[in-house]
Amino acid sequence: MDYLDLTIIKAKELLSQKKISSVELTKYYLERIEKYDKNLNAYITVCTEKALNAAKTADEKIANGESGALLGIPVGLKDIYMTKGIRTTAGSKVLENYTAHYDATAVSKLKNAGAVIIGKANCDAWAHGSSGENSDYGPSKNPWDTTLVPGGSSSGSAVSVSAGFSLAAGGTDTGGSVRLPASFCNIVGLKPTYGRVSRYGIIAMASSLDTIGHFTKTVEDNALYLSVTAGKDEKDGTTPNIKVPDYMANLKKGVKGIKIGIPKEYFSKGLSADIEIPIRKALKKYEELGAEIIEVSLPYTSHAIACYYIIQPAEVSSNLARFDGIRFGNTRETFGPEAKRRIMLGTFTLSAGYYDAYYKKAMQVRTKVIEDYNNAWKKVDVIVAPVSPTLPWKLGEKADDPLAMYLSDVFTVTANIAGIPGLTVPVGFNKGLPVGIQILGPHFSEDKLYQVGYAYEKETEFWKEKPNL
Ligand code: GLN
Repeated sequence: MDYLDLTIIKAKELLSQKKISSVELTKYYLERIEKYDKNLNAYITVCTEKALNAAKTADEKIANGESGALLGIPVGLKDIYMTKGIRTTAGSKVLENYTAHYDATAVSKLKNAGAVIIGKANCDAWAHGSSGENSDYGPSKNPWDTTLVPGGSSSGSAVSVSAGFSLAAGGTDTGGSVRLPASFCNIVGLKPTYGRVSRYGIIAMASSLDTIGHFTKTVEDNALYLSVTAGKDEKDGTTPNIKVPDYMANLKKGVKGIKIGIPKEYFSKGLSADIEIPIRKALKKYEELGAEIIEVSLPYTSHAIACYYIIQPAEVSSNLARFDGIRFGNTRETFGPEAKRRIMLGTFTLSAGYYDAYYKKAMQVRTKVIEDYNNAWKKVDVIVAPVSPTLPWKLGEKADDPLAMYLSDVFTVTANIAGIPGLTVPVGFNKGLPVGIQILGPHFSEDKLYQVGYAYEKETEFWKEKPNL
């Protein structure tokens, strides 16, 4: 069989039947990275030796009859996850020579489940960006058309899964950085509820908005991945002691009777017809499958970008303050323009005299956005919305226009502002390029999102389409 058709679930089956080995699988991905990544630039660091050793250990465990949720499965990680003994750059030259001396909680959980860490994926420096072009290690390219952006900031992680360099990848989503690249690359991406997955050992961007996220080819794989990473962590005070449900249990229950909300503000003049057409088709499909489509209103959506781009830089300016010139060399030189822009913006909005006008106001709008969603949940179980207002754009097209770049986050930032989960699922192609929807739900409703996502995926199987490299 062609390994490119594998999912985690399928690979696990073949591994346990000893039809393939983890070493074979890992070599297969390493060879593809060697062959195609010069062009796509998905990886900053490839962990060839460590990955092969981990794969060998996994094979030994399988031979001994041991099991693990991700035993022997090659996974890529955004280069913002601390990985013990492996260079961790956050996509920035500031950390060019930094080797992490401990594992992030998510990384140790993945390792304990048997995952093979194949490499550290490219990303916008410090996770600032929507296109991947803010990486100090060069932009990643979209496997569906290498003249286009793959979406950011978890650009390399999305490219890795889409191009067949790993079966899954870890990213982070502070304002859309998992959902957007997932939709641009025809893969599944989850932004979990704020606090569902520990962020200990993830280089912080904006702490009240940050979540880890997961990229996979299918919804079922994603549910399995979250089963590994979710849960309370003593080292991250934002992870509540809320039971982690069995994410695989309700997956295949279908959508009969499920109420899907469509926010009217998301289907307005800002949304390109390229995106709206496939999404409307998807909604029809959901109706055929027995879901009820109900219009809802999220009136504060139009203020969300302004609110996000006050709160987020404010928190960035505080989090990046630790990378000072005394401990990290000449950061005046090594911080890129986007990080400098955010540090300055954030410092400004937090400064005495401006705090009330900007930061405090933004926090008041934040409450309103949360209320918008709470009102919607009185009427519907989930919300289905576009992820990006447009198809993937050309590399360089928005690189010199920060405002145009920020506006591409218009549909994704509200979930981070409210702390709710969102799942991107491919819904087809337009002009040969992938389009995704995001399924949003109340806090800790990931199992419901998977149920709704799975029903559509099973009917349509767009995930089986592969880019021509
Ligand atoms: N594009 C958004 C930003 O630039 C979101 C980034 C993210 O989610 N890490 O802030």
